[in-house]
Amino acid sequence: MKKYAVEKSPEQWKEVLSPTQYEVLREKGTERAFTGEYYDNHEVGTYACAGCGAELFRSDAKYDSGCGWPSFFQPKDAAMVEEHSDVSHGMRRTEVLCAQCGGHLGHVFDDGPAPTGLRYCINSASLRFVHRDDMEAGGYGAYLPQVKERA
Ligand code: FE
Repeated sequence: MKKYAVEKSPEQWKEVLSPTQYEVLREKGTERAFTGEYYDNHEVGTYACAGCGAELFRSDAKYDSGCGWPSFFQPKDAAMVEEHSDVSHGMRRTEVLCAQCGGHLGHVFDDGPAPTGLRYCINSASLRFVHRDDMEAGGYGAYLPQVKERA
């Protein structure tokens, strides 16, 4: 098993994640389309991992794909995510994980818009949105305790 910078036991993850966050991030669950907190969020800011707080996606790469999940054409930094081949559920897909904690985020498809042509289809439950105003006020680092508190 690969070692991640942030590792916790299932019991420890359950202490800091809601049941839905745990199911998605740690058990590769998928929230139902159009039910998540962020698919229709148009605020400016950044999307961090709900598990470990790593900054994963920025609002300037978010677009309306119509698929019912938050969609981005690129991660904030390619090094922040891992992509694994996923042949579960009778489909051949590419799973996207947080590179810092190994949490399941969603999948990436090749039907996205320019400039990348990619659609990172990400569960809202995997993400914690940080509004631009909050980033300026406290810096993103100051937000990390809130990530835990809110979870
Ligand atoms: Fe993470």
